[in-house]
Amino acid sequence: MARTALLGLPRIGPDRELKFALEACWAGHTVEAELAETARGLRAANWKLATAAGIDVIPCGDFSLYDHVLDTAWALGAIPSRFGALDRESVADYFVLARGTADERPLEMTKWFDTNYHYLVPELEPDMRFEPRADHWTGPLREAAELGVQARPVVLGPLSLLLLSKGLARPLDLLEDLVPAYAGLLNALSAAGATEIQIDEPCLALDRAPWELVAFANAWRALTDAAGGTELCLATYFASLDPDVLERLATLAPAELHLDLVRAPGQLGPALEAFADTPTRLSLGVIDGRNVWIADPDLALDRIDAAITALGSERVTIAPSCSLLHVPYEAAREEGIEREVRPWLAFCVEKLEELRTLVTAVGSDADREEVLADGRAIVSARRTSSQTNEPAVRERVGALSVADYDRPSPFEERRPLQAERLGLPELPTTTIGSYPQTEAIRTARRELREGKLDRSSYLQFIRSQVDEVVAFQEELGLDVFVHGEPERNDMVEYFGQQLAGFAFSAHGWVQSYGSRCVKPPILFGDVSRPTAMTVDWWRYAQSRTAKPMKGMLTGPVTILQWSFVRDDQPRSETCTQIALAIQDEVLDLEAAGAPIVQVDEAALREGLPLRAAERDDYVRWAVDCFRLATAPARPDTQIHTHMCYSEFNEMIEHIIRLDADVLSIEASRSRMDVLDAFTDGVTYPNEIGPGIYDIHSPRVPSIEEIEGLLELAERRIGRDRLWVNPDCGLKTRTWKEVRPALENMVAAAERRRAAVAV
Ligand code: GLN
Ligand code: ZN
Repeated sequence: MARTALLGLPRIGPDRELKFALEACWAGHTVEAELAETARGLRAANWKLATAAGIDVIPCGDFSLYDHVLDTAWALGAIPSRFGALDRESVADYFVLARGTADERPLEMTKWFDTNYHYLVPELEPDMRFEPRADHWTGPLREAAELGVQARPVVLGPLSLLLLSKGLARPLDLLEDLVPAYAGLLNALSAAGATEIQIDEPCLALDRAPWELVAFANAWRALTDAAGGTELCLATYFASLDPDVLERLATLAPAELHLDLVRAPGQLGPALEAFADTPTRLSLGVIDGRNVWIADPDLALDRIDAAITALGSERVTIAPSCSLLHVPYEAAREEGIEREVRPWLAFCVEKLEELRTLVTAVGSDADREEVLADGRAIVSARRTSSQTNEPAVRERVGALSVADYDRPSPFEERRPLQAERLGLPELPTTTIGSYPQTEAIRTARRELREGKLDRSSYLQFIRSQVDEVVAFQEELGLDVFVHGEPERNDMVEYFGQQLAGFAFSAHGWVQSYGSRCVKPPILFGDVSRPTAMTVDWWRYAQSRTAKPMKGMLTGPVTILQWSFVRDDQPRSETCTQIALAIQDEVLDLEAAGAPIVQVDEAALREGLPLRAAERDDYVRWAVDCFRLATAPARPDTQIHTHMCYSEFNEMIEHIIRLDADVLSIEASRSRMDVLDAFTDGVTYPNEIGPGIYDIHSPRVPSIEEIEGLLELAERRIGRDRLWVNPDCGLKTRTWKEVRPALENMVAAAERRRAAVAV
């Protein structure tokens, strides 16, 4: 019989219980014991859920109070010396790494592969001494056993742990030192009664050099020895194992190998071949652990059937593609989502049911027609729904031609027209869009939602906020204004709510990092823009000043990237639809008189595929979508874009191809070094505003400091193409910080204008 397995479960709780317990504990409102109790309850609830769904292999140790990479580093003693002596039994000390102290900054955070989950980046040191402690796994293993569940511990493997860390140029140099610590860990788990252990090595599915694979193979053999009779199940996800990697892994014959067949179905054939003569079970990740849609059961069964034919059912495990950490708990609760769309959704609970259905369908005496009837009906209803096949949207996309992606004239011709229209000084000053989202703004939004504030009073209040932001910019003497975005909760949600094709869940939270959760919009259908989204606000703001007011939009790639996106067509196609909706808005802003429209693409780089071979294709369509959104703007309309990161290496040609008239980027923390990417080899031809104020920190930069940064920027870019702005939007900062910082920014710009150009 084939079996079902889970690689991991969501851990924040169906109602974000973990978030509230953590924050109460950090604020000192509760004691650690209460947090521990909540955590224990969440683990137990997961095991109960999985047991009730009839899942055969249920994980433990996947639960985390903050982050599973941190858990692993902590358990192995990979703790940077800058934190001094920490007590590894103390939960408070564990949080020190995640949250820092008054004197010590926390570990850095970064995206877990291409998901929107952030892990804490362990810091390696050359002479680090590893020393294992297994309680993060043995504790839950015992808890599960008490509840009658023989759980499978989930451990992030040594190769991935090192490759996900920072601090050493060659992190794998530490592998030999680290393996004995892992061996100790596995030994302890085996002694504690684990019959199998899941070792996650997602990094194996990325681009790996042969020597790295050799290092991994040596490590794996050592771990297999250490585990004794306990089976080691190797799990990969998010990308494909290349045929040569599969062959190498086959010689190691792990007890089980997990493959992500949602992201990378093409690896199944080579895997079946490579593992044919081994005892290894293949774990088929056929249910999407990254997205919220029900699976096409026939597609999944094609894969499962092929594996069973090749290996026999005893050697087949059916599983989600990866941990279910990345999906919300239960779609059935989403009563607010329209009746037609709700059945298309499968969150964690529904995905467990799907696994059950699949394993039933491959049973020897199953009546497939009957078992699959419901799933097939939903999949076909979704495929043929008018919401996923909007003729007007389809026709518009179908009619696009190459000319639709180009501005009417090149930058050199647009530039003088824009200069004449705007009449800006040298080194024009501006901000990125948002101003502090104060408690008053949040309260107003909440009260509107709860019906305590009527719509017209709310709008009145937001207008008063715009007034304040405009007056403030006037007082400061900025050159290009923004309205401050007080009406926006979030730069993607705000647009999603006004576009056709998006749904919003009430409980669809997923963990972003630690106690932080996000509730991504669900992009289920063809996207279009029924009515203008931002024009009224722009018009109001512009009416309050004679200075040019920027229209402010979120770009198509960023909207795509930060949503749960339909999986029934390529992402590029969905993105094109969003681009056309944004284009409508660009043109409406222009028609209303906006001289500048900014289209933020904060997530453009984040969308880069994990495997190098797939990157070109992505950047091509992503950049095309931005171009499509902005192309029909008149030559004298200035298009800005903003990106809040500073890694442009290897991206610069694509950034150039965006053909935005002005680009603002994050640059203050690198002290303008990021600009090297814009001048080395290829030169960035358009105007650019490198950030001079680090908005991630409460620190207020002085005039001299900003002046210094501007001078550094001038040396690289030249004064005539340079803008002066902060790194990013100001919504997370307070007025107390923003006022002096921007005053200093304006003063520094004035000083530079008066100085001789470098
Ligand atoms: N215009 C947005 C803001 O200022 C941009 C935010 C972002 O890039 N993350 O808030
Ligand atoms: Zn930004």
